[in-house]
Amino acid sequence: MKIARFDEGRIGVVIGDEVVDVTDVVGIDTDEWPVVGPNRLIRDFASHRDAIEDALHSAPRHRLGEVTLRTPVPWASKVIAYPVNYHDHGREMQAGYRADIQGFFLKPSSSLSGAGEPVELPVVPGREVHHESELAIVIGKRCHNITREEWEEYVFGYACLLDMVVRGREERVFRKAFDTFCPVGPWITTADEVGDPTQLDMALWVRHADGTEELRQHTNTGNLVLDIPGMVQMAAAVMTLEPGDIIATGTPAGVGPVVDGDTIRITIERVGEMSVSVVQGASGQTEVFATPYTTDIAKQELVPADQQVAIEEGAK
Ligand code: MN
Repeated sequence: MKIARFDEGRIGVVIGDEVVDVTDVVGIDTDEWPVVGPNRLIRDFASHRDAIEDALHSAPRHRLGEVTLRTPVPWASKVIAYPVNYHDHGREMQAGYRADIQGFFLKPSSSLSGAGEPVELPVVPGREVHHESELAIVIGKRCHNITREEWEEYVFGYACLLDMVVRGREERVFRKAFDTFCPVGPWITTADEVGDPTQLDMALWVRHADGTEELRQHTNTGNLVLDIPGMVQMAAAVMTLEPGDIIATGTPAGVGPVVDGDTIRITIERVGEMSVSVVQGASGQTEVFATPYTTDIAKQELVPADQQVAIEEGAK
């Protein structure tokens, strides 16, 4: 099942190019603050499932193109992110560590945004803001200290995630914490529908204002350094994981800058496809980024031109 959040926090099930509004069926109050209805829905999903399926025939429907997709879990108690979890990204960043020996960092839930909301670039003169294409794991049940073999029991579903970052050498979290720097979506695809997540193709394109589009990133989750069971287990070894917590699983090589007018498109096999526009905002100005910084990421041709055509075809 594909669980979307849209407009003023309504909950929908995506079927084809339509979204069926099940907000009332699952008892979501769109005026609630803090916005933890989605966390509760994930926790209690098994008990709502029959009512949701019954409602699919009678509940109001909207065309996906006529709603604004929001982030599925806006008040995730934490967004856990594994840095340098693909070897080729480690090489391009010239990083001397990998996620399996480094652990994770956190992004604030206030950085979460949805497929229908643009990434807003902060005012960081002379800096590059980069995309990182990542598979998101959404936690379904509270857990702490689990075994590697138990991981699947605690996963609710998966989504596409963009871990946006101002490149530099300042605190990682500072550079990754801006509002809209963690688009997640376009919805959560439940784990039963995705099946085995350990061999999923993932790709990211950037379309520029002139209409040209370039493939920037392409990998398979089979290339992860610390794999999906390992990431869930490691996070739960440190912290109590809660329903709705999100794990950003790391990005492959090919990270690069986006500018005002670009559109970032990410596809993950059996999970979904999300396009997010990029606009220049007026906020985010601090003295931290006053000094210009030149990125020294080693550029390399990662996806040969002939393979790019095949990937384009596969994504349609
Ligand atoms: Mn990342």
